[in-house]
Amino acid sequence: MKDHRPTIVIAGGGTAGWMVAAAFARFLTGYRLRLIESDQIGTIGVGEATIPQIRLFKDALGIDEDALLKVTDGTFKLGIEFVGWRAPDHRYMHAFGAVGRDVGLIAFQHYWLRARALGVAKPLDAYALNEIAARKGRMHRGGPLTASTIPAMPYAYHFDAALFARMLRNFAEGQGVERAEGKILEVEVSEAGDVAALKLEGERRIDGDFFIDCTGFRALLIEQTLHTGFEDWSHWLPCDRALAVPTALTEPLIPYTQATARAAGWQWRIPLQHRTGNGHVYCSAYMSDDAAAETLLRNLDAPPLADPRPLRFATGRRRQGWNRNVIAMGLASGFLEPLESTSIHLIQSAISRLLQLLPGRTVCDADRREYNRQSDFEIERIRDFLILHYALNQRPEPFWRACREMALPDSLTHKLELFAANGRIVREHDELFTEVGWLQVLIGQGAAPVGYHPLADQIEADELAEYMRTIEALYAREANAMPGHADFIGRHCAAPERAFAA
Ligand SMILES: Cc1cc2nc3c(=O)[nH]c(=O)nc-3n(C[C@H](O)[C@H](O)[C@H](O)COP(=O)(O)OP(=O)(O)OC[C@H]3O[C@@H](n4cnc5c(N)ncnc54)[C@H](O)[C@@H]3O)c2cc1C
Repeated sequence: MKDHRPTIVIAGGGTAGWMVAAAFARFLTGYRLRLIESDQIGTIGVGEATIPQIRLFKDALGIDEDALLKVTDGTFKLGIEFVGWRAPDHRYMHAFGAVGRDVGLIAFQHYWLRARALGVAKPLDAYALNEIAARKGRMHRGGPLTASTIPAMPYAYHFDAALFARMLRNFAEGQGVERAEGKILEVEVSEAGDVAALKLEGERRIDGDFFIDCTGFRALLIEQTLHTGFEDWSHWLPCDRALAVPTALTEPLIPYTQATARAAGWQWRIPLQHRTGNGHVYCSAYMSDDAAAETLLRNLDAPPLADPRPLRFATGRRRQGWNRNVIAMGLASGFLEPLESTSIHLIQSAISRLLQLLPGRTVCDADRREYNRQSDFEIERIRDFLILHYALNQRPEPFWRACREMALPDSLTHKLELFAANGRIVREHDELFTEVGWLQVLIGQGAAPVGYHPLADQIEADELAEYMRTIEALYAREANAMPGHADFIGRHCAAPERAFAA
């Protein structure tokens, strides 16, 4: 019997394809959902660090957190430590969650800036609960342990990307998503210019009303077929290659990602329950592939479990994420290096945006424009945040000098000027990174505001000093009451012993 439901075809079954399939299966009734992937082509196989919003995604699907971490070899993540970014021997953290406590109308950083000027403030990290807990190797979730005024501690996950995609596949297929295995050989376009069908090897043909391009960097539908165009941002974010390699697990199991600056890029370290993910992101104009591999292997803290896997990319975004009846998600829609672990989040937010603006059988221009407008805003603000990490460095190497000297986007220059004058951080609309995220990276990279909000002068100096001491003591006591990260995992979500599969 002919199926009369509108058909959404998802091309590609990496993290993006299966996230889309799982979410659509959960929320879209009345649609036929089909996904095509090719084992022969495979997936990119990286993407192991997330940000706290990932928890909204698993909640929306009704997936239990501990079950997710068990099957994906997952660990908890309280933030990202940046080692050597400002200068070779310097380190700071972008920890999720609050820094200090706002007072009345004005943000904590104004009090901290004044206290620092008076010589009664510790470094910013003494007032960030997530960072204190992370550095002690602790983990806790749920309400406060020692005082009701302690803020919540947001967290994200590190997980094995392949196991995450497999879990989503089980979920999606269980909810009726039809999977087809095979290479897409041709994309058929209608006279009107829309994508009409995908032709697979074995003379198979998959028709659809609406197509989600999750074919990764190939961008088979959105670019190779519709020639949508790509806005290149490599003049701002010039790293264009990466090498990824797993290593054996080392103790202790830290609850944070590490990003360590190298001569022409940086190296990630992502601890999972049974192995550690590592990679070196670098700029080929300043470092050869051999030198990049040598740098990576020299800086591992355990023996590699496989040969380093090379990846190439261009930073930027598709000119339209939604073009005709095709929406690109994941790597097909654009790429920002994984410095703040934002790619999986961008898939998640694209899914929720599309669910809000879902078309019927025909696509309306206004919906498409709105989708593209929101997507552009989101990725441009994340781009600026990433550029900030490079722009304010004081490192000696030519790559870093060039980063320091580059012309910045106007939107970022405006943010830097606001902060430089009076320590102000303005979060526009619903941009992803919060004021405290910007604050930690600005201070971490060495930005030094001249002034602060005048209302911070209203409090007496000794009261201010006492306020700083109280917050520091409260947060330190709270972190000390938390269990260790490895113990916490052992108690709640230990993965079964799994031999590492390269
Ligand atoms: C170096 C690096 C590190 C990263 N680290 C992080 C991180 O820590 N955190 C994070 O959030 N993100 C990270 N990312 C991004 C993350 O890996 C991706 O966003 C995520 O994996 C989604 O990839 P994808 O599904 O779009 O593409 P892919 O994994 O490449 O999947 C593409 C799919 O399309 C299929 N396909 C392609 N062509 C065809 C065809 N002709 N016929 C049939 N099927 C086809 C493939 O078989 C595959 O199933 C990183 C990316 C890179 C490059």
